Amino acid sequence: MTAISAPGIITIDLDALAGNWRALARLVAPAQCGAVVKADAYGLGVSRVAPALWTAGCRTFFVATTAEAHEVRTLAPKSEIFVLDGLMPGGADGLLSASAQPVLSSLPEVREWAAAGRQTGKPLACALHLDSGLNRLGLADGEVRALASEPELLNALDVRLVMSHLACADDPADPKNEDQRRRFDELQSILPDGIGRSLAASDGLMLGKAYHYDLVRPGYALYGGQAFRGGPTPVKPVVGVQARILQVRDVAPGETVGYAASWRATRPSRIAILAAGYADGFMRSGSSPGAHDGAVVEIAGMLCPIAGRISMDLITVDVTDVQPTPQRGSLAGLVCPQIPLEAMGQRAGTIGYEVLTSLSRRFHRTYIGSGS
Ligand SMILES: *Cc1c(COP(=O)(O)O)cnc(C)c1O
Repeated sequence: MTAISAPGIITIDLDALAGNWRALARLVAPAQCGAVVKADAYGLGVSRVAPALWTAGCRTFFVATTAEAHEVRTLAPKSEIFVLDGLMPGGADGLLSASAQPVLSSLPEVREWAAAGRQTGKPLACALHLDSGLNRLGLADGEVRALASEPELLNALDVRLVMSHLACADDPADPKNEDQRRRFDELQSILPDGIGRSLAASDGLMLGKAYHYDLVRPGYALYGGQAFRGGPTPVKPVVGVQARILQVRDVAPGETVGYAASWRATRPSRIAILAAGYADGFMRSGSSPGAHDGAVVEIAGMLCPIAGRISMDLITVDVTDVQPTPQRGSLAGLVCPQIPLEAMGQRAGTIGYEVLTSLSRRFHRTYIGSGS
């Protein structure tokens, strides 16, 4: 599909991506900066993102699944790859063939990985996820103590990293951050010294030196996300999304637009029909009127409100006040300088992360910059 006939265009700036990684790496030095490239690099295309990050200097990658690890292995052959989902029952061979390291989160996983090591004849590399209060994945306090009291089990592992994950890092005023940091310190003190430590993702690394440890694991911030509420972060936008205008039509006062006839013209109106819908990541919850502010799109520099329901493939936008009338085939901005990822997410009642990972598979992807 060429850009000209595509319903929409996603522009990904690899130079901005590489610049963001370098900015975060500088911020946390002497700690190391890794990169989280799970979910196809948050929807941006891991096949372009991982090599660009490698060229920028990134050597440690985090993915969610073994299949993702295999992909990154071919893209960055000499990198260190951690699999956040850990070890599935019977999954050791898959991880080993990608030279990937599972992030182990429970004693049964630890035992299975140790057994795989005994079969191989040497302890296998891995990370341990310690639960500091998120209560999602991770070894609980009692499990960390049980592991520490079984030296033969611990010795059957090559633990490269201990890590934990913060619940409220976007809000620097939340006392849970300090609380989790203390619990992380306590838990790792039960284990042998000399293992690398990692606590912070995109927002956590903005909380200051005490949160950096040996390695930070940003994902969203690399892709231009600004979820941190404590002030500006040193990253620049990476992603732009535009959709094609299919048609512009006049709607008389009293007429309704779209499903459920939820929007009614109160004046002579002009509606642009865009070739994007909820199947393209333009979420239905951004419909107007709706529970949230309602999505907007940028046309000729103006922010235009959605008129009525967002449907699967189409959005209807009120362009009555746009002069001159937008042209069929021209582009409307869905994510652009005037509508950052966060604003787009908030207006639809969600977060920029979900916007990114839902971006259309139907849109044409254009990569700009060399990424180095
Ligand atoms: C997804 C994830 C990250 C990256 O989080 P961002 O907020 O995107 O930086 C880091 N660590 C873990 C455990 C994750 O699941």
